[in-house]
Amino acid sequence: ATMPPLLAAIANAGRHGVLVKSAVVMERLGATTRVAFDKTGTLTRGAPHLAEIHSVDGTFTEAEVLALAAAVEVDSEHPVAAAIVGAARADRTTLPAAEGFAAEPGRGVSARIGAHRIAVGSPVALMSRIDGVPTTAEQDACVVVDALQERGFTAVVVTRDGGPIGVLGITDQLRPEASVAVELTSRVTGTAPILLTGDNRRAANLLAAQVGISDTQAELLPHEKVDAVTARQAAGERVAVVGDGINDAPALAAADVGIAMGGAGSDLTLQTADAVVVRDDLTAVPAVIALSRRARRVVI
Ligand code: ADP
Ligand code: MG
Repeated sequence: ATMPPLLAAIANAGRHGVLVKSAVVMERLGATTRVAFDKTGTLTRGAPHLAEIHSVDGTFTEAEVLALAAAVEVDSEHPVAAAIVGAARADRTTLPAAEGFAAEPGRGVSARIGAHRIAVGSPVALMSRIDGVPTTAEQDACVVVDALQERGFTAVVVTRDGGPIGVLGITDQLRPEASVAVELTSRVTGTAPILLTGDNRRAANLLAAQVGISDTQAELLPHEKVDAVTARQAAGERVAVVGDGINDAPALAAADVGIAMGGAGSDLTLQTADAVVVRDDLTAVPAVIALSRRARRVVI
């Protein structure tokens, strides 16, 4: 007996390095009219590194800013956290003890160190705290953030009891196959893929241009990634979302097909996803969509 086409397609997808969780998902993949890619860990390798440390308040040296940030990030699973902790470890920095760790997906993390609350996170979170006349440290932080973002960096602000003490510049390498994957995706779906990211607008646009994406939505919180997906669906599109981080889990759940990048993916993301890319290759995404379309043709 021959295998039903969708099951054969699932087996084939496995050979391409994609675990497809059911025949229903395998079928749905071929109906995709739009693919939305996440940035960090999806179009990029997801192994960012710390490139620059800036002290913006005369009180702390760059090494102290790094030590405080790393002490908080030790408990975070975000790739940005790995970059910060990795840099501190490479410098053999002794990390102070942190207590009461809290994470806000898409924004950042915080913890108590001694008598102070140290937060590490997105500049958007910092800027929104500034009301009235900014302090000198806040002004300095804004200038540094601006300059870093202009150069395509992810800028992360370190605050102590709400006031900025430093800014970190983080970069991630583009996946070598990213632009080919984008091109193949647009060919197989017949539409231009889009970019949905929590990172800053300028870094997002710069990267989008490099991979050939012209439709980018940046500085999105996890629930705003969901809104971006449901808006497309309301317009009649069938959306596949490709993401890696814990912050992508809600968008993967809202998508017609949620695809997780397996390598760096968080447990929650892997659980939520309908399919998992286990080979470290983004071209597997258009490949499985093409497989599904062929299998559907056989079924019909
Ligand atoms: P992406 O959509 O590119 O995967 P995220 O939604 O995960 O990005 O994060 C958005 C932004 O929130 C990051 O660019 C960073 O500024 C901030 N952020 C999130 N988590 C952390 C963290 N653990 N430490 C520092 N900054 C963080
Ligand atoms: Mg991500």
